[in-house]
Amino acid sequence: MNYRIDEFDREHLWHPYTSTISPLPVYKVERTEGCELVLDDGTRLVDGMSSWWCAIHGYNHPELNRAAEEQLGRMSHVMFGGLTHEPAISLGKLLLRIAPPSMSKVFYADSGSVAVEVAMKMAVQYGVASGGVRKSNFVTIRSGYHGDTWNAMSVCDPVTGMHTLFGSALPVRWFVPSPSSRFGGEWDGNDIAPLRQVLEEHHEELAALILEPVVQGAGGMWFYHPEYLRQAAALCREYGVLLVFDEIATGFGRTGKLFAWEHAGVEPDIMCIGKALTGGYMTFSAVLASDKVADMISGHSPYVFMHGPTFMGNPLACAVSRASTELLLRSGWQELVAGIEAQLREELAPASHLPSVQDVRVLGAIGVIEMKQPVDMARMQRRFVEEGVWVRPFGRLVYVMPPYVITPQQLSKLTRALVKIAGES
Ligand code: PMP
Repeated sequence: MNYRIDEFDREHLWHPYTSTISPLPVYKVERTEGCELVLDDGTRLVDGMSSWWCAIHGYNHPELNRAAEEQLGRMSHVMFGGLTHEPAISLGKLLLRIAPPSMSKVFYADSGSVAVEVAMKMAVQYGVASGGVRKSNFVTIRSGYHGDTWNAMSVCDPVTGMHTLFGSALPVRWFVPSPSSRFGGEWDGNDIAPLRQVLEEHHEELAALILEPVVQGAGGMWFYHPEYLRQAAALCREYGVLLVFDEIATGFGRTGKLFAWEHAGVEPDIMCIGKALTGGYMTFSAVLASDKVADMISGHSPYVFMHGPTFMGNPLACAVSRASTELLLRSGWQELVAGIEAQLREELAPASHLPSVQDVRVLGAIGVIEMKQPVDMARMQRRFVEEGVWVRPFGRLVYVMPPYVITPQQLSKLTRALVKIAGES
């Protein structure tokens, strides 16, 4: 296959996490159809990434297209300060119907990272109102990923994240080890001890514990035991520290539950959602909060929550999010995700015997092959394209999280390529 590298793109467009001098190769997508990306030379790739957890219904879905077009015909945007609109209201009602029962307030934001910033600001306003100015720091677990903005970076894994690079410019948080007990394995009671110790000693300066429930995504694709969340929630209550769940990657059915908190049955005080919220159509997110949080913030000076971005509650994003969530709820997603899970388990299992492979794990519609050594991303990505699939590995992780509507044949194409190419390393 002969790919033309677009000169302008290579010279002028800065792609994520790559050099401008010697950029990693990029592939030019001309259009998308269902679960396939079509490159400009006609090559069709079965999509294993859902565009980073988002495109759960596949691409170019007629219902989502219609929702966007209808909303465009009425209004694409209007400020949310002093104004409201039907898409924001009906999406809010829908989200509260499927959210943890204690969530009762919806704050719309622009992206996952911004949702994390908003959640952290809420926690600080709550902490300061309830416990004084010192109650403004955070504790989190290692191997987490919460986004690329400043505060989100500060709670990402301190080793694999960007702490070393941004050094003293980042606020210093408390980190405890990520739980070692696997999802579906035995619970090791020692896992909770470091968190208990930090909360015991530092709760007076801690506004919240923030973590990704059950599945740690971009920080390591690790699936941990839900008992950790139950015990962490009990400790947070005991020490008066808020619990923030970042469900930006795990939300909307990806782990086999509509939201990952359901695996543990414990509710957060604040919850971030994004990514699949719009079915992958545009950037958008929301922060859900309990009355306890909202009332504390609103009952203390300055009596308002201090955040209000220009594109807050964007009607176009709200309309598409509503359509995507409604579509998900009547799609039979439980069976679709369970079917993907069973097939991933069966078809990725042979990889666990490869000498280059450390671990193979599957949860819901997420399949991970953890290699022993970091992969050569550019080479591996080219090999995936040669096999007709789109998979973007990072570090030691080669993983897929396909759209829920992927066919068994398409999924087999993905898993065959994964096992084959993992075996070449
Ligand atoms: N939190 C989690 C758990 C994520 O996986 C991500 C994105 N990978 C983010 C936050 C940040 O979201 P965004 O890229 O939309 O800013």
